Amino acid sequence: MEKLSFCPVCGKSNFSPFLQSSDFFLTQEEYTILSCNSCGMKFVNPRPGASEIGKYYESPDYVSHDAGKKNRLNFLYRLIRNMSIKKKHKLVKEHARGKKLLDIGCGTGEFIFFCKQNGFDVKGIEPGEKPRSFAHTEYKLDVYEEAYLSQLVLQEFDVITLWHVLEHVNLLHERMKKIIEIMNPEGTLIIAVPNCDSWDAHYYGKFWAAYDLPRHLYHFSQETMKILAQKHSLKIDRVIPMKLDAFYISLLSEKYATGKQNYFQAVINGFRSNCFARRNKKNYSSLIYVLKKEKS
Ligand SMILES: [Zn+2]
Repeated sequence: MEKLSFCPVCGKSNFSPFLQSSDFFLTQEEYTILSCNSCGMKFVNPRPGASEIGKYYESPDYVSHDAGKKNRLNFLYRLIRNMSIKKKHKLVKEHARGKKLLDIGCGTGEFIFFCKQNGFDVKGIEPGEKPRSFAHTEYKLDVYEEAYLSQLVLQEFDVITLWHVLEHVNLLHERMKKIIEIMNPEGTLIIAVPNCDSWDAHYYGKFWAAYDLPRHLYHFSQETMKILAQKHSLKIDRVIPMKLDAFYISLLSEKYATGKQNYFQAVINGFRSNCFARRNKKNYSSLIYVLKKEKS
């Protein structure tokens, strides 16, 4: 286990306990989420170190990394995924000034495959060996290990995307610095993360599936994302909701809280979450941040 003595966003060292929860998905181990007294960032501490975290992803049920398995939840996941791939592509097309795209944490590669078919020059980074080889063999994509990031050329990319990935990254500032180095000055960075200020986060409390401990190391709000962006001379250009996530996260959270697949309740709560967000500063279950480099 690794214990942080500094806030992963602002670097200050005064924290308060925020929430005690468990790895409901896999190990049932208990973890503590702390809240930074200076910037409000929520993060798990202590947490598994870089050498230990691998085993927390080793489950046949980890759907985002397993393209082969079929069950009902998986079917729903795929349906949502296909809808969201099209939405993500549209967004990238709208904001990117060029066609060179890097997707960090690309999983089995469906998103970059779709972009490639639609005229983008794509590369992917994926730490998982299984999803990486699936992307190679199934879609003939250029997908590399994380270490490959250091070989990428300065200002090479027009657009870099991290779809529900930044919350998993061990060295947050180092990764941000690297991203900024390889993105061109007019480039676009797109980061999607769960929002711990959403209605579903408050409603489900420790059962909120997007805490996903200990795989999610950080729990961003719009305020803490803004602080992280400023630290790296980035400005948030747009904040876009991921409305479907409210339903999927509610479904998983219902399962963690009650042990049952409460489809009906999940749909109701998905709507409640999205209604709340419309009236409350866009605090949707998950948010997409479109970031640009500050002009120096
Ligand atoms: Zn802080």
